[in-house]
Amino acid sequence: MPAKHERDYTYCTHCPKMCRFACPVSNADFRETHTPWGKMAAAREFFSGAREADNELLRVLSQCLGCRLCQTYCDHEIDVSKALREARSAVIQTIGPGSTVLPSVESLLLNGITRRKALVDLLGLEWFRPNTADVYLPACELPDADPEYVKSNVKMLERLEVSSLSVFNGDAGCCGHSLYAAGHTEAFVELARRNVVEFNRFKRVVCDSPECAYTIGTIYREFGLPVTARVMHMTEFLQGYIDVVRFRSLDGTHFYHDSCVMGRHLELYDLPRELLRRTLRAPLREFQWNRESSYCCGAGGVFPLVSPETAERVAERAIATSSESGEGVVVSFSPRCVWQLRRNAPAGVRVEHGLSVLAAGLRDA
Ligand code: SF4
Ligand code: SF4
Repeated sequence: MPAKHERDYTYCTHCPKMCRFACPVSNADFRETHTPWGKMAAAREFFSGAREADNELLRVLSQCLGCRLCQTYCDHEIDVSKALREARSAVIQTIGPGSTVLPSVESLLLNGITRRKALVDLLGLEWFRPNTADVYLPACELPDADPEYVKSNVKMLERLEVSSLSVFNGDAGCCGHSLYAAGHTEAFVELARRNVVEFNRFKRVVCDSPECAYTIGTIYREFGLPVTARVMHMTEFLQGYIDVVRFRSLDGTHFYHDSCVMGRHLELYDLPRELLRRTLRAPLREFQWNRESSYCCGAGGVFPLVSPETAERVAERAIATSSESGEGVVVSFSPRCVWQLRRNAPAGVRVEHGLSVLAAGLRDA
């Protein structure tokens, strides 16, 4: 049993399921084996030799979004998501090529490789300037999922006269968050090692995906691969520029969705709200579950690839508060949340990237 999580598996197994009400996965599929308690008990059985590694075990251990909502309600502050990831990694190593539950290393790496071509097609080569001090790392899935978002981001950077930043032009593909979340540890570390060399050529690495910022800035360090460049989310980078510009006021009812990684992992709660308030005429509305208790959108880690139907049900609940008003705009600074919530939004509810809202406020201001 991995020593760093032994206490976690033991405490959870003996817990009267105090965080049970919060887990978006077991709330969506009503399965006791998918509560934090059930998944941690399965991990403990495996590590203690009472349960064999097979695809059924891997399926149970993969019923986690990595959202850390259970941790908010745990008196012992146990990070179930990390303990389960460790268990997935160990099971994958034991099963080897026979593991069929999680997406393969090759399929996950493909995203990063195809991204640069899609970005060049979208933006042209002028955004791939060599030798800038800082680098912008757009999320892998964006060029396909929402090309207008990437274009509006770079237009906003032009409008703000940001000259220190270029789009990442190195050999590395993506940050490896999906590899990490799936439990493909060896492939993740190999990719991270290559990325560190690339990223350390810059002063700052600016990510529009909280997953990228957290993975590069925190997880790499946990694997003994520190990035010397300062890693930040785009909201942190823009703060200084936005302080000195004027916005026009945008109409409408806007709800703020805290992405799990933006909030519980990076602890960025106030800054994104402050930035949005600069351009919204009406007060920014809150979901019933917000800040440290924010409800996951269902797209965490590789969960939508493992259990797509449950992921959709999680998203429906996450966005439910906004639909009670019958209309409105849900805003999140996580491209992944926007992608997931947009596909599951009820009629009358629009879902927008926070950066796109800021870009719209800047236009014609
Ligand atoms: S995370 Fe905490 S509250 Fe949840 S089952 Fe484990 S020990 Fe109990
Ligand atoms: S991290 Fe999220 S999905 Fe995973 S067990 Fe905890 S609450 Fe459930």
